[in-house]
Amino acid sequence: MLDAAAALAAVIERRSVREVLIKDAEAWDALYGQLQDAYTRAFDKAAQDALKDALDRLRDLPPGAFTQADATHMLDVLEGRLGGAALSGLLNGPVINLTDALYRVGAAEVGTAAGVDIAFGRPDFDALKLIQKDNLHWIDNSWNARNNTIFRKALEDYFGDGMSRADLIQRFAEEFPALAAKGKVYFELLADHAATKTREMGRVTGYERAGIEYVQVRAHLDHKTSAICRNLHGRVIAVRRLSDQRGQYLDAVRRGDVDAAKSAWPWPSDKAAKAMGTTATRDLPANIGNPPYHGRCRTITVAYLPTGGAVSEWERAAYDREPLSRKQTTALIDHCKTASWRNAKGMAEHFDKHGKALWGSLDAYNAAAVDLIRRADRDVHLAVRGGRLKALFTRTETGRRSYEMAVVDVLGQDIETLHRRRGALSGAADTVQAIKQPARGISKWLSK
Ligand SMILES: [Zn+2]
Repeated sequence: MLDAAAALAAVIERRSVREVLIKDAEAWDALYGQLQDAYTRAFDKAAQDALKDALDRLRDLPPGAFTQADATHMLDVLEGRLGGAALSGLLNGPVINLTDALYRVGAAEVGTAAGVDIAFGRPDFDALKLIQKDNLHWIDNSWNARNNTIFRKALEDYFGDGMSRADLIQRFAEEFPALAAKGKVYFELLADHAATKTREMGRVTGYERAGIEYVQVRAHLDHKTSAICRNLHGRVIAVRRLSDQRGQYLDAVRRGDVDAAKSAWPWPSDKAAKAMGTTATRDLPANIGNPPYHGRCRTITVAYLPTGGAVSEWERAAYDREPLSRKQTTALIDHCKTASWRNAKGMAEHFDKHGKALWGSLDAYNAAAVDLIRRADRDVHLAVRGGRLKALFTRTETGRRSYEMAVVDVLGQDIETLHRRRGALSGAADTVQAIKQPARGISKWLSK
């Protein structure tokens, strides 16, 4: 069905793209490490200075009870050292340089994969200035956003305990490292987000310059993958959409409108993320496109390189969580009608496991699988499992709660199993949950 030469060319192309991705992943790792290091080192240094200043300040006071005025004063000292002005002063240089480098990694990764040199022009330098401003803004904001609360809470607790100034000095000196460590976690997260976001914005430039029109979302799938990344994995998104989203975001940054920036590039709630699982790509909200989709997000986009041919189209529809057209469904069914068991051993194993009691003989089991694929009164679904497109043929007889299901690996045209079961068609392990196709009632007359 697939043109062999085209398929081979696609495989070669994919392989060379992967090699490029791996190489640039190393450049990315190095820069990412440097950014995180810069953030946390600046914070560590500022935290040490803050502790010293705060303790000096306390020692200068006469012995007596720790008062609310002392607490307020200490917070002022801490803010002077750990607040926005102090930290963005320390980080200004590294943030500007590393933002530039991370943006270039994103652009270059696309350029190298596409065999195009990405030369930066005025729009890129304008964008870069805004991204640098944005990355510094979040550092500026960090005291208010998080660290202020950590230290304020501790001082309030001490105050509530009715301490003397001498007690406070000791307790604060003891507990400060743990409090500072909490603040450091926030800086790691901030650096992670800045690095990822910057690289992804650079990648958009790469797509634009290389003339790539569509990208595919590629999540890192394992037990830690978030709901949103699972639900967006594999979708094919227009580059124009990513450019628009980046434009909206940077416009908001230019205006200093934090709320608009957040809504241009949100971290969707769990509920919203869940709902996206069954939403067709074309119906996704306009502000969902570019990763990162949340903190510590490992999802990226890659240029979409269709292998050509019908299977690639069906796969794209499944990844976009859309049913095929009736015409495509007919072609899919025809494609699956010629499927056979990959090998006799696999077939016998499935027969032993869930076929013997119901179908009696191996021949009857095979005939039932073929019949289920071909007959008109069954339903057809597409799902993605383990990165492969599967067609699920199901039939429920009236009066029975269980149903028969035959699974065909679409690209390989392999029948993988036939069994009778109850419950949902797709499990949590399916990358794309089963999508019902418009099949019933049409295949009967088409196949005659
Ligand atoms: Zn993610």
